[in-house]
Amino acid sequence: MLGLKASVETQSHTTSYYAATANWQTDYPLLEGDIQADVAVIGGGFSGVNTALELAEKGYKVALIEANKISWGATGRNGGQVIGGIGHDAEQFEKFIGKEGVRAIYDMGIECTRIIKDRVEKYQIDCDLKWGYLDVALKPRHMTMFEEWRQYEADMGNPTDIKLLDANEVKHYVNSDAYCGGLYNPTDNGHVHPLNLCIGEAKAAEHLGVQIFEHSRVNKITHGEKPVVYTDKGSVTANFVVTCGNAYMENLVPKLASRVLPSCSSVIATAPLSDELAKSIMPSDSAVCDPRTALDYFRLSADKRLLFGGLSNYTGLEPSNLEATMRKKMAIVFPQLANIDIDYGWSGQMGIGLNRMPQLGRLSKNVFYIQAYSGHGVAPTHMMGRITAEMISGTAERFDVFAKIRHWPFPGGKLLRRPGLAVGMLYFKLMDML
Ligand SMILES: Cc1cc2nc3c(=O)[nH]c(=O)nc-3n(C[C@H](O)[C@H](O)[C@H](O)COP(=O)(O)OP(=O)(O)OC[C@H]3O[C@@H](n4cnc5c(N)ncnc54)[C@H](O)[C@@H]3O)c2cc1C
Repeated sequence: MLGLKASVETQSHTTSYYAATANWQTDYPLLEGDIQADVAVIGGGFSGVNTALELAEKGYKVALIEANKISWGATGRNGGQVIGGIGHDAEQFEKFIGKEGVRAIYDMGIECTRIIKDRVEKYQIDCDLKWGYLDVALKPRHMTMFEEWRQYEADMGNPTDIKLLDANEVKHYVNSDAYCGGLYNPTDNGHVHPLNLCIGEAKAAEHLGVQIFEHSRVNKITHGEKPVVYTDKGSVTANFVVTCGNAYMENLVPKLASRVLPSCSSVIATAPLSDELAKSIMPSDSAVCDPRTALDYFRLSADKRLLFGGLSNYTGLEPSNLEATMRKKMAIVFPQLANIDIDYGWSGQMGIGLNRMPQLGRLSKNVFYIQAYSGHGVAPTHMMGRITAEMISGTAERFDVFAKIRHWPFPGGKLLRRPGLAVGMLYFKLMDML
């Protein structure tokens, strides 16, 4: 069982490569009894841990409450691709946030990967962080798009030497016949062991005084001058609450549940490759993504496994034949790996929003939420944690850029939104084929 269920029972990590290679097992206590804090943060993924850490760095007394284990959700299961940029196409919101808002989102898209770099250095987090990232083109239309992206970065003043690669050059980075070119970013983007990054950040937060609780699902929030969050066995009374449960929060806050669609993505990890084979297929050891909606993403792990991920189907549900489905996708890119042993396969739920821009805002004057990174959250979560902490400490400008963006519920309510997504994904699959 791949540990996908977000049931009310608390759970251990899913059977992933990351859980098997975690630097240590977190073992934080249950929340029992009634405690006080300046801020209660719900959810121990990147969003919650980084919100707590940023607040602790500013001197706040924080309680972080996780239903399962720190990094149990999407954070401990993802492809580990550290990619800059926040959301998709900030220009579409210009009439709400102005040109300055669009610029601010662009700048935060650069800052978010730097936060990871700084954090890893500052707290000496052992998490296999490497720089180098490649977008690969499956067809000439993608190359036209990459040229536009490169030009956009230059127009925005990004000094990074982002290179367009032709079909021959791309093979020096990813040795596959599947691609007709690429766009290489050597320094701003890269890859990481996400679970080790997150538990390292949690440890840093703990050292700064954050009280962390595991296996403690919040089942009620009451609003007011002093909001209170309740679990089965305890409660936290605080001045502020931040919800960071994302795709795993179920119906704790129905308004938020209606705006985020949990959607499944799956990853396989091969057995370790020989040095020679690893070097021959991924000479640059970069992270790689293609630009389709139902994209492939892959990279080598530190012990030279190929971690190959993607959307496993269009229903949003985990496939019963995960390994076979993902092996088939991997063999299209690397036929030489068609029969390689697969040591791990797992899935996770990412929170999709309709407009694919992270959702931040206020449920009441001192209760805030962060969710819906639409599959691109490893770096953006770090930024959202930072600006939420800024807002709580009295500087709301950057938080409010996001809070001004409207987010609509998925049409069809809980019953119909999943079939609706399947139809939407089929449409994007057809577009991907053009
Ligand atoms: C398979 C997969 C691959 C991905 N690959 C990439 C990638 O390569 N690059 C990238 O940028 N992004 C990727 N993503 C997306 C990225 O992982 C997420 O955007 C990011 O981890 C979201 O972090 P989060 O903290 O908001 O949510 P999560 O990590 O899901 O954390 C939410 C936490 O809240 C807890 N929780 C929920 N409800 C409650 C409650 N009531 N009380 C207490 N705790 C609660 C959950 O147990 C969970 O631990 C991927 C996602 C998946 C699933």
